[in-house]
Amino acid sequence: MEIQKKVIGVLTSGGDAPGMNAAIRAVVRAGIEKGHRVIGVRRGYQGLLNKDVEEMSLRSVSDIIQRGGTMLYTARSPEFRTEAGVDKAVANCHELGLDGLVVIGGDGSFRGARDLSNKGIPCIGIPGTIDNDIGSTEYTIGFDTAVNTVVESIDRLRDTSQSHDRCSVVEVMGRRAGHIALHAGISCGAVSILIPEREFNIDVDVIDRMRATLKTGKQHFIVIVAEGVGDSKRICEYIEEKTGIESRLTVLGHVQRGGTPTALERVHASVMGYRAVELLEQGKGNRVVGIQNNRTVDYDINEALEMTKDIDQYLYKVAYEISI
Ligand code: ADP
Repeated sequence: MEIQKKVIGVLTSGGDAPGMNAAIRAVVRAGIEKGHRVIGVRRGYQGLLNKDVEEMSLRSVSDIIQRGGTMLYTARSPEFRTEAGVDKAVANCHELGLDGLVVIGGDGSFRGARDLSNKGIPCIGIPGTIDNDIGSTEYTIGFDTAVNTVVESIDRLRDTSQSHDRCSVVEVMGRRAGHIALHAGISCGAVSILIPEREFNIDVDVIDRMRATLKTGKQHFIVIVAEGVGDSKRICEYIEEKTGIESRLTVLGHVQRGGTPTALERVHASVMGYRAVELLEQGKGNRVVGIQNNRTVDYDINEALEMTKDIDQYLYKVAYEISI
């Protein structure tokens, strides 16, 4: 059966994440290789509203696989969240002749993709967010690089906190999710990992643990706080007050978003980009791709948006028990 040639749009939306470029490249290359046209939409849904687009070619995605950020830029678009905004975006898709759209972003972006799909524009979502907080996939583009960036930064902090017998309190990204904190925490031997998914008692979970560890001869500490937990400055001051150990807060901030994507990001992003094109080619829309048990999977968007993801309980237990 001959496959009907299509015009495929691709955009990145919401927070940028290292590895998004690898996904864009895969969509463009797979699309063109299979005989379709690919249109890059700049600045997410806002670009769709402004018809801010470029025709992609095999060479327009050269030399981006190793770069963080997104060559298509990204944005948040309040206008797109209104019904009139979605209607305008749909009209623009028709004007541009788009037969389908690949949306690389987080769950907010997936909701936008669902709205477009409901109005007749087949959309495929690819999970891209450093927070790894999407229920339908074990992995989101950007997470692995962000964790590695945090680990590298904390290794540096450890050198200085060890030399001064200090406590380093490190705030990492994650407003609603503690995946970065947990993975970095276990990788760096943090004495306590404070995350939004778990209630904690600072006296029991931080101060008592530090005191017990002090008795075993340890003199320097790393405490990781996910940003969603709250006032990390106050946590840092409290630790110093209660333990008498000089404590310094480091807020890693946006450095966690940037940098060269790891090999893992590039592999997963490439495969998910390819799968997105395959799905559109098969006439499927309103779906998201993801990775489960190291394999590429896809789900209906509504089903995917209902799925929730907790932190890895076992990892949390292991981190807690061996970081003493
Ligand atoms: P992320 O995709 O990383 O979660 P946002 O939540 O900022 O980032 O969403 C990116 C864009 O997706 C928003 O600017 C908006 O245009 C669109 N969007 C977000 N939430 C919704 C929603 N509930 N319904 C429709 N569109 C949404």
